[in-house]
Amino acid sequence: MLGWWEGDALVVRYAIEVPDPDATTSSWTRAHHRAQDALDRALADLDHPWLGYVGDWHTHPACCGPSSQDEQSICNASRGYSQPLLLLVHRADETIEARSADRGQLCPLTIHRRPDEI
Ligand SMILES: [Zn+2]
Repeated sequence: MLGWWEGDALVVRYAIEVPDPDATTSSWTRAHHRAQDALDRALADLDHPWLGYVGDWHTHPACCGPSSQDEQSICNASRGYSQPLLLLVHRADETIEARSADRGQLCPLTIHRRPDEI
């Protein structure tokens, strides 16, 4: 996901796709080089001065939220950033669950939607 921080609030502006040629309906692997390529392309195409990587998203084919592997993955990724990262998981029942990680640890978060956005 691409966005920026405004004080203690994270603004998520875009969600880009990181392709996995070996993905199935129930598995997907985040390869760092493909994620970096997708990020570099999106940042160049969108050309927005505030945009940067702020976290990951994916869907689940069942009504379950982030797995322990999902949480560990965002925790590990957060060690490389000075601000917390966000993980959004879109469940099969249309619910979106979120986790936030800061310096390797899950941390609390509150989600606000702007009234003018879906
Ligand atoms: Zn997952």
